[in-house]
Amino acid sequence: MANSALRSPLPQLIVAIACFGIPSTTVPSDQLAAPAGRVTLTRAQYLMGTIADITAVAPTEVIAQDAITAGFHEIRRLEQLLSTWIKTSELSRVNAAAGRHPVAVSPETFALLARAVEIGDLTGGAFDITVGPAVRLWKVTEAARVPTRIELAIAAQNVDYRLLRLDTTQQTAFLEKPGMQIDIGGIGKGYAAEHAAAVMREAGASGGLIGIAGDFRIFGRRADGSAWPVGIQHPRHPNEVLATLESVDEAISTSGDYERFFFKDGIRYHHILDPRTLRPARLCQSVTIVASDATTADGLATGVFVMGPQRGLALVERLGIAAVIVDATGRVTISSRLRNRVRLAPAPPTKPPRK
Ligand code: AMP
Ligand code: MG
Repeated sequence: MANSALRSPLPQLIVAIACFGIPSTTVPSDQLAAPAGRVTLTRAQYLMGTIADITAVAPTEVIAQDAITAGFHEIRRLEQLLSTWIKTSELSRVNAAAGRHPVAVSPETFALLARAVEIGDLTGGAFDITVGPAVRLWKVTEAARVPTRIELAIAAQNVDYRLLRLDTTQQTAFLEKPGMQIDIGGIGKGYAAEHAAAVMREAGASGGLIGIAGDFRIFGRRADGSAWPVGIQHPRHPNEVLATLESVDEAISTSGDYERFFFKDGIRYHHILDPRTLRPARLCQSVTIVASDATTADGLATGVFVMGPQRGLALVERLGIAAVIVDATGRVTISSRLRNRVRLAPAPPTKPPRK
């Protein structure tokens, strides 16, 4: 049972440390080896219901600190707009007005919703931003209860991202049916990481890394000019790395069935739902997407997880992005763009598998 562990922020931090070689103290040791005029600092804060880690590389310590502070501010600002846990957020107001009237939203909220709808289209509905009623029903980490067929059938009437109307001229969002609910969990962290990277650059950071749970945005290079080393967590061995790669200026998101789940009668029930059944998607253990922006990486990691290795890989190749997909049996597929970049770690000793 993972519930109790996952309530504490610490295991989420372990998920978040898919990037290694980045010390969690404020003055990493690589600063010592860095050429003069380049400082590296790292800080962590609890934001968006998880641990957000930000590392900045900058000419001075003051600039690095300012860039990190700006990054956290930006994430907090977006959380206030987007979190459906915050009653006054724009998305909470869109949800509260479902079936009644359109709600005017900020350009940031509108852009995110528009991108979420596009990713819904790209994934053939596997990514569905309106999955909220089902997410609330499952309450994976709190309730550990399997909803009844009737409950799921009722929720299904209110899950369909095509009924989210976005009016570009009026900048409004409208959920057509009263019971509909937007859930930003599959794309919001990547979007926030993308925006945080932009403000950090403006604040003078030449390089940096923003990690919000499994969603990472990397920009520029490390202080010594090298690329950032990234590790992808093994979906069945929490302290093991499945594969490593080096990254400059890109986003890397992982969706996994090990992030939030419970076991009942030997079956793993996790938080990524197939919109067709409103039950946990069963074709993958984890999906890592490498893309040029973190919104795309986050949304597609969730969507490709639902699509499964075959359809998901075909989409990734068609879009010219990259993925590491671990299917339900643990088989690893690396998309063509990553084949020369990813190093698979030696397989950890096998334990009796739990599905
Ligand atoms: P991620 O960790 O980015 O894969 O996001 C998982 C979260 O996205 C879940 O906790 C839900 O809040 C939400 N979610 C679950 N299933 C879907 C889906 N099929 N499409 C979009 N969002 C989803
Ligand atoms: Mg996602």
